[in-house]
Amino acid sequence: MNETVKKQQQHSKQGHKARRQKSSLLLLLISILFCTIAIVSVLTLMQEESSQEQQKTLEQTNTGNNNVSNTNTSNTNTSNTNPEIKTPTLRTSDHNNPSSEGWNLVLVNPWHAIPDDLDITLIQLKNGQSVDERIYPDLQEMMDDCRAAGLSPIICSSYRTMDKQARLFNNQVKNYQSQGYSEEDAVIEAGKWVATPGTSEHQLGLAVDIVAVSNQNLDQSQENTSEQQWLMENSYKYGFILRYPTDKSEITGIGYEPWHYRFVGKEVAAEIKERGICLEEYLEAK
Ligand SMILES: [Zn+2]
Repeated sequence: MNETVKKQQQHSKQGHKARRQKSSLLLLLISILFCTIAIVSVLTLMQEESSQEQQKTLEQTNTGNNNVSNTNTSNTNTSNTNPEIKTPTLRTSDHNNPSSEGWNLVLVNPWHAIPDDLDITLIQLKNGQSVDERIYPDLQEMMDDCRAAGLSPIICSSYRTMDKQARLFNNQVKNYQSQGYSEEDAVIEAGKWVATPGTSEHQLGLAVDIVAVSNQNLDQSQENTSEQQWLMENSYKYGFILRYPTDKSEITGIGYEPWHYRFVGKEVAAEIKERGICLEEYLEAK
């Protein structure tokens, strides 16, 4: 009798043990399932973020390419009724520049890189170029008035991405190297004519290179065109300054560029022109 009870007790103990093992196994399986779900969710999220990043880069690269392919696009048919504007476009928040002086006075030169928090909204012009939308109305008015004076100006360069600026700079370095300069010297020489990536006003969207349709060479001969003479005389009325005058290279860090205009606003442009100073001198005196 006692033996039967003992056997029953033993069976019952073994049953308990098996059930405990079963429930531990179940708990383990559930934990593994939760962990797997969590890992898969994190991976999916990371993948989505990375594809968004890639899209943004692509969009910017496309803008750069547009600039390249449209460099020689003629604007001669553009009239007052047919403005430069095409469509309001992309917003980039990679860089930006709220300066204590105001967005129109952000200083970018070989010693002052583009601010990290630059935030500009670009507007695309008809020829594929883009500028900061805040300078668009004045730029359009200046181009219209220049054409109304019987001239044919075209914007051959405007907003540039970091990639585009890097390509231009590297090409210039290669040019000097092919002329026999060492790499180090080629970089120094190139920097006098093409801003080092990250230090170009073109990356602000506030600068435009304007040339005459009849002479699209970016060299000193530009200053003799009627278009440049008109712009040098009148651009301040629209808030633009000739950014790199011939006698200010040591202060600006960039050689004479009779085609590069920078928006600073009408009031400041008028003062800079009247006093015959450059942007660096204006900001220093403030
Ligand atoms: Zn320029």
